[in-house]
Amino acid sequence: MEIFISIIIISIITIIFLVLFKQNNSSNNLELEDHESLEEWDCPECGFHIQIGDSCTYCYEQKPL
Ligand SMILES: [Zn+2]
Repeated sequence: MEIFISIIIISIITIIFLVLFKQNNSSNNLELEDHESLEEWDCPECGFHIQIGDSCTYCYEQKPL
């Protein structure tokens, strides 16, 4: 039973480590991207609030300039 518990603890630590590693990677990638793609905007067609990207994720309308 102790082996089973230690396997669970090791798995949880591994998952936490992977999540932290992934978050570091994604934040580094965002810094390298254009600032324009990081701006939040509202779609003029459907009013959907887009947080990331240059096109509406709901109706695929392009971001107005
Ligand atoms: Zn839209």
